[in-house]
Amino acid sequence: MACLTDPWNAPAAIVANRETSSPATQPAWLKTLHRIGQTNITEHDPAVLDVEAWADYWARVKAGVVYVSVTGIMAFYQTEVPFHRRSQYLAGKDFFGELNTAARKRGLRTFARMSPDLNWGDALQAHPEWFMRDEQGNAIATADTPQLFQTCMFTSYMTDYMTAIMHEINVHYEVDGFYMNGWPMFNLPVCFCNICRKLPPPNTPAYWDKFNARVMALWALYDGIASEKNRQAFYFANMGGGIHAAPNLVQVGQISQWFQADNQGRGRMDDPVWGCAQQGRVCHAIMNGKLAANVTGLWSTGPLRWRESIKSPQETQMWLNQTAASGMVPYIHVIGGEKGMGEDRRWEKFGEDYFDWTAKHDAHFSNRRSIANIGVVFGQRTNLFYRCPGNMTMQRNMDGLYSVLLDGRFFFDFLHEDQLDLHRLRKYSAILLPNIALLSDAQCAQLRAYAEQGGSLLATFETSLYTDQNERRADFGLAAVLGIHTAGKVIGRRGNSNPFYARIERSHAILDGFSDTNWLPGAEYRQPVAAADHPILTVVPGFVAYPPELSYPPTPRTSEPAVVLQQHGRSRTAYFPGNIEHSLWIAGNTDLSRLLQNTIRWVAGDTAPVSIEGQGLVESFAWETEPGFAVHLLNYTNPNAHRGWLRGFYPIGEQRVRLQLPPGRTVKKAELLRAQKEIPFRLSRDVVEFTIPSVEDYEVAALTAD
Ligand SMILES: [Zn+2]
Repeated sequence: MACLTDPWNAPAAIVANRETSSPATQPAWLKTLHRIGQTNITEHDPAVLDVEAWADYWARVKAGVVYVSVTGIMAFYQTEVPFHRRSQYLAGKDFFGELNTAARKRGLRTFARMSPDLNWGDALQAHPEWFMRDEQGNAIATADTPQLFQTCMFTSYMTDYMTAIMHEINVHYEVDGFYMNGWPMFNLPVCFCNICRKLPPPNTPAYWDKFNARVMALWALYDGIASEKNRQAFYFANMGGGIHAAPNLVQVGQISQWFQADNQGRGRMDDPVWGCAQQGRVCHAIMNGKLAANVTGLWSTGPLRWRESIKSPQETQMWLNQTAASGMVPYIHVIGGEKGMGEDRRWEKFGEDYFDWTAKHDAHFSNRRSIANIGVVFGQRTNLFYRCPGNMTMQRNMDGLYSVLLDGRFFFDFLHEDQLDLHRLRKYSAILLPNIALLSDAQCAQLRAYAEQGGSLLATFETSLYTDQNERRADFGLAAVLGIHTAGKVIGRRGNSNPFYARIERSHAILDGFSDTNWLPGAEYRQPVAAADHPILTVVPGFVAYPPELSYPPTPRTSEPAVVLQQHGRSRTAYFPGNIEHSLWIAGNTDLSRLLQNTIRWVAGDTAPVSIEGQGLVESFAWETEPGFAVHLLNYTNPNAHRGWLRGFYPIGEQRVRLQLPPGRTVKKAELLRAQKEIPFRLSRDVVEFTIPSVEDYEVAALTAD
C-alpha cells in the first residue's frame, strides 16, 4: 500500500511532473472529448438499473466518458477492503464490473468514481481517528443520514483506506482514471480531531497553507496510484464553487489534468442566470488550456432538491449553453436508475437532442485562446478570508461587476491573484480589481510593473488594503500606482439613511450620458481617501432618509474624492473608494452601472478586439478556434435572468459583430451553428464584420479561417 512519509508535502517528483503538464502533455484523447455523461449510481441500482440500456444511451449520445461508482461509502463490487460496506442490493453481483464492461465494449471511456467524505458507525468504532470532530470532540453525522459520519482529510482514512480501494480497482479492472466526489470541500473544513487541533486556526491564511499542502500531497499520491497500471490514467477531484473554491486554484490548475466543476445549477433561486459561465471563466483562468467540464444537473437543483425529477428544460439548456460558450465540456448528470433508466425519463430525449447538436460542430468548440482586452481579478484569498462590512458578500460584489460587464458588452477574462505576471497581463489593456482586498507585496509590485508598461487599472473600495495574510496595511498596497492614501476607517451609514453621494465637479468621459444633475449616487460603504488634485467627483456624506423633513445634506460639499483618476502615458488608473459594484447590484442602480461602464471604457481605451452591437442582455465570448474563430452569444433577455428557473426563451433581433483578425489571417466562411446556416460577411483589411439576424437562447457564429 502506498503511503506518504510526510503528509504535509507532496512527493516532489510527481508534483514537478504535473507542474509541467500542459495541453501538449495531456493524454491525446482528452483533446477530442466533447461530451460527458453520468448516471449517479444509488444503492438500489444493482437491483433496478438496466445496464444495457444505460450503456446504449450514453454511447448513442456520443458521450466520450461515463462515470462508474466504486465509492468508499458503499461498494458496488465484491470488495475485500474492511469497512467498504457492500450495497445491500448487490447480492453476489459485480455491478461495477458489469457497468464498466458494458461501457467499454461500446467504446466509452470510464472513470472510477470514489467518495471519501463519509463512512458508517462500524468504521467510527474501529477507527475513531479517521473522523472529523466538533469542538466537544464528537463525531459529526450528516444532516440527512445520522448513521453516516464525516471523515477528516488530514487522517489516515485518506492515505490508508482510500488508497486500498484504488489498489483493489487497479487489480481487477481497466479504467481511464479515478475521480473523487465530495472532496476537497467547497468550504474549508472546520475540524477538531487530534491532528486538526495542532493546525493553525480554521479559516485563516495559515490554515489554508496547510490545507493546500495536504490537498496537493493527496492529489499527487492518488495520481501516482491511478497511473500505476495505465500510464495514461490519472486522478482528479471534485471542484467547482465558482469564485469561492476552497483549494488554491492555481495549484489545482498546475497538478490537474481535468477540472471537474460541480456547479450543477443555480444554488439559490435569486442567483443570476450566469453562474455557469462565471465558473467557466474561473476554469479558463487557472487551467492553462487543459480540460474543464461542468456538471449540469438535469435533476431539480436549487433550494429544494428533487434528485430524481427534472428541472425546467430551458434552465438546463441555458446552463449547458454557458458551459459550451465559456470553453468547458458539456456534461449531463442524472441520479438513479429506478425502473431501468429512472422514474422520470424526460431527461433522455433532452440530453440526446442537445448532444446531437454539439456533435455536429465539435471542431468549432475546440478553443485555442480567448479574445478579450480586459482582465478581471477574482481574488481567491479575498473571497475566502476578507471580512466584508455589514451584509456585503464578495459573490454579490462580483455579480455587480459582472452585470456591468454584460450591460457594457465587454470581452473579458478572469485572472487569479497568483497569476499577475507581466507576460500574462500584457494581453490586456486594463485589469479590473473589484475590491480585491488581499494582495501580497509581490502582487502589488506586479500590478505596478504592468501599469509602468502602459497597462491600465480600475480598483474599488478596499483593494490592496490587506496583505495576503489578511493583515490590514496602514495604507493601500497600490497607493503609489493609484495615487491614493487612506484617510480613516471604512464609513457605512446609520440605520436606513441615504448612502453618500458623489458631487460632479467637472466634466469627464466617465460621466458621459449624465446631464441635468449635480450629483450621482455614491455607494453603501466607502474607504475615505485623502484629497486629490482636481477631483472629478467628490463625496457628499450620507444623511437622514426619514423623516423627509431631515432628508437634506447638512454638508453639501467636501474635498474628499469619490473617484481618483490618473493618466501617465498610455496607462490610466481609476479608483472608486465606494463598494460601488456591490451597491449597484443590491440596489439595481443604473447610474452606478453606467458610471462603471464609462470608467471601464475609459481605462481600456479604444482597444476592443471584438464588439457586438444590438439590443438585449447578452453574455459573449470570443475564441480563436481550431478552424478559425467563434463568437458565442448567450441571450439572457428573460424575465427569469435574475430569478430562476428560465421557463421560456425570448428571441432578440440583429446583433452586429465586428472582429479584429490577427495579422495574416483571413476568413473563408461564416456560419451560425444554432440557426444552421451560412451568413454573408464583409472583410476589410484585418476586420471581419457580419450580422446575426436573431438569437433565441444561444448562437455561435463560427468563422472558418486561413
Ligand atoms: Zn481533522
